Amino acid sequence: GGVLTTAFFVAWFEEIAKQVRLQRERLTALDAAIGDADHGTNLDRGFTEVGKALTGSPPTSPGQALLSAGTTLIRRVGGASGPLYGSAFRAMGKAVAEPVTLAGFAAAFDAGVVAVEQLGKAVPGDKTMVDALVPASRALALAVRDGVGAREAFDLAARAAEEGARATIPLRARKGRASYLGERSIGHEDPGAASSALIVASLATVATA
Ligand code: ADP
Ligand code: MG
Ligand code: MG
Repeated sequence: GGVLTTAFFVAWFEEIAKQVRLQRERLTALDAAIGDADHGTNLDRGFTEVGKALTGSPPTSPGQALLSAGTTLIRRVGGASGPLYGSAFRAMGKAVAEPVTLAGFAAAFDAGVVAVEQLGKAVPGDKTMVDALVPASRALALAVRDGVGAREAFDLAARAAEEGARATIPLRARKGRASYLGERSIGHEDPGAASSALIVASLATVATA
């Protein structure tokens, strides 16, 4: 039951960048089916820039790391996902109380999810990243309530996000580009939900390392 350090947050962003690079083609293929085939390249560019920003001006607190990452994503990613993820990390950075306990992380994560909901106006079931992020946040809150450690909490959140992403397959998109397809958006996993699952899974990976 330790504290989540600045180095932990930097490692989280490094792991996200690595996983986005590895899964870039899969994310782009998902977006090719119901969007404009740029989600993998958007995030690869964005998180590569996040890595450069964090290396170029090393943050001295978790809040600084989150704010820097969020600002970089807003500036560097053209698609809808840039402002949405960027606002989420910025909201997390503003909400996070230091030193960062698991309970503090869970509260900050929820503030990030609320920022996505407010900016994008999507609700669960609209077939967006919200469908992965909301269950992940709920899982974190329950894990805190149950007093489990960070590793297990992040594992539970990762599983919830992954299930939420998979559950977007039969949904009809009501927000974003995929909504233009109407019924034809049914039968495909939402790319943003898939990348959100990757972002939460990266938390679990870094906590285990
Ligand atoms: P773009 O659609 O502009 O090309 P991306 O391909 O990078 O941007 O990201 C698409 C993802 O963004 C979608 O799969 C969806 O999860 C998410 N998204 C789009 N619009 C919204 C919204 N209004 N609210 C929440 N998430 C959204
Ligand atoms: Mg796209
Ligand atoms: Mg685009």
